[in-house]
Amino acid sequence: MSKIYDRYREHMAEIRALNSAQGLLSWDQETYMPPDGLTARAEARAVLSGLVHDRTVSGELGDLLSELADAGLDETRAANVRETIRDRDRAVKVPRELVTELARVTTLAQQAWARARENDDWPLFSPLMTEVLELRRRQAEALGYASEPYDALLEEFEPGAVTVEVAAVFADLREQLVPLVAAIGETDPRDDALLRKNCPEPGQNILSRDVLKAMGFDFRAGRLDRSAHPFTTGVGARDVRLTTHFDERDLAKALYSTIHEGGHGLYEQGLPLEEAGLPLGEAVSLGIHESQSRLWENQVGRGPAFVGWLLPKLQGLFPGVFDDVDADDVYRAVNVVRPSPIRIEADEVTYNLHIILRMELERALLRGDIAVDDLPGLWNERMDAYLGLTPRNDAEGVLQDIHWSFGLFGYFPTYALGNIYSAQLYAAAQADLPDLEDGIGRGELTPLLDWMRAHVHAHGRRYTAGELCRRATGHTLDSRPFVDYLRRKFCALYNLSTGDVRA
Ligand code: ZN
Repeated sequence: MSKIYDRYREHMAEIRALNSAQGLLSWDQETYMPPDGLTARAEARAVLSGLVHDRTVSGELGDLLSELADAGLDETRAANVRETIRDRDRAVKVPRELVTELARVTTLAQQAWARARENDDWPLFSPLMTEVLELRRRQAEALGYASEPYDALLEEFEPGAVTVEVAAVFADLREQLVPLVAAIGETDPRDDALLRKNCPEPGQNILSRDVLKAMGFDFRAGRLDRSAHPFTTGVGARDVRLTTHFDERDLAKALYSTIHEGGHGLYEQGLPLEEAGLPLGEAVSLGIHESQSRLWENQVGRGPAFVGWLLPKLQGLFPGVFDDVDADDVYRAVNVVRPSPIRIEADEVTYNLHIILRMELERALLRGDIAVDDLPGLWNERMDAYLGLTPRNDAEGVLQDIHWSFGLFGYFPTYALGNIYSAQLYAAAQADLPDLEDGIGRGELTPLLDWMRAHVHAHGRRYTAGELCRRATGHTLDSRPFVDYLRRKFCALYNLSTGDVRA
């Protein structure tokens, strides 16, 4: 049987090589590719995607997997086979005609979205959004689902997650957060002006690299470059590409983008090398991936201990800029809560309400409870109900994000799931590591990394996200640690009593 497993591994190595080429082409496209290379690059990527699809649905792989499924493999090998069967089944179920039609329509929808947002012209985007939605609905039907079409789409990004369960956790989170946001809104506004003084890019670049090194990011197995929108790409085992973006008048932008992407990068670097190219060498879900980035960005990076360690570095790198401030000033500045219509500008407290709003609307769309043209009105109503503000126009409202033009329904929830998981994991790490906060204050961040390596990274896709979380923390998905963390932190920062902010 080990011969058949070897053949399966060889087959997967081909898919891995194609994915690696894809990853490198996409990283290069966002960093160094000259603009005129775009057309040829798009064609090359489309060809590679087709090859990955063909290798995945191939009968040869199907035969190997059926033989291996009943072969009594050890737990690790059985988990790889189980997850490959899952991936292949999903790929086989969707007709090729639907895949190409989705690629075609979403390309048009992206162009329409860009023009619609630029001109604040919802009717320009609405017909294509309707087409994209219809295709994704057909895809959900082809994939099958337990209780509603949204299940099939959520499964793509968060395997094992069930819509009704996630929706219940989010509804509860919303009930807890709305009063907290409102109570903070009634306090005197704070500002982050001290982060908006001129900090030249070379100093910011050194800072980003120093922080990544302190986190344990291995530059022998990764890089940091610049791009318009920061992202992380795992090109292959021991090759993880991070990007950030620098703004000389906004120190927090590069600093926290770098830490966030660094969290993603540490997860990629921590996946088991011996399983590279197989499911156990891959991240379990986008939610868990995001838990790693959010944990480093917020629980660590926006915490008092880290800020205390950071300040002397800032004073050394930017002479004169931070002379008159203390660590508490910086801590307050990096934790200003200010409801904004724009998701990507949102702080830790308001961010999740942006996500919850999107999931509620997506789910209603997929069920057919609302029509695409109901979106702008519903969007603005809920923005008011959850965040107490109304977008000035659709460009900063319903049109702000590109995701729906790609057909990415079921993707947004993974951001809030990441926040919830991050609080559960951090609380568990704190309980296991009594010296954690003091160590962070001394710049010793690797004990936390080692904990994540052992409890999260090492498992790849061996367990579902919920099961991984249960093993690491004692509980499956649970918003309480996250709500407790936010209440504790922000009631102290804004001099509120926790009784004032309960639902
Ligand atoms: Zn992220």
